[in-house]
Amino acid sequence: MSNNKPMPVATEISAPFWEGLKARRLLIQQCNACAQWLFYPRRHCPACLAPDPAWREVAGQASLYSYTLTRIATLPDFADEMPQALAVVELAEGVR
Ligand SMILES: [Zn+2]
Repeated sequence: MSNNKPMPVATEISAPFWEGLKARRLLIQQCNACAQWLFYPRRHCPACLAPDPAWREVAGQASLYSYTLTRIATLPDFADEMPQALAVVELAEGVR
C-alpha cells in the first residue's frame, strides 16, 4: 500500500471544513437566516439564498445512507487498496 495518495485540496470556501478535520472536529455550515444545514461548503444558503453561512461543529451522529464496493479504482493511486468502499452518510443534521 502506497503512502503517497492524492489528498483533497482546500479552497477558500472549503478550508474551514478541512481544518476542522485536521483538529478532529466535524464542521459544516448552517444558514444564519433559516437554520438550514448545508453540505458541501457554499457561499450562500441554497434554501433562502442568505450569504455567509456559519461554520458549526456537529455531534457526529449519522447513519449509513448508501455504499458500494468498487471493482475499478477511482484513481490509479488506489489500485493497491481494492476493493474501495465508497459511502454516503446522512448526519443527524440532515445533510449527506
Ligand atoms: Zn437559509
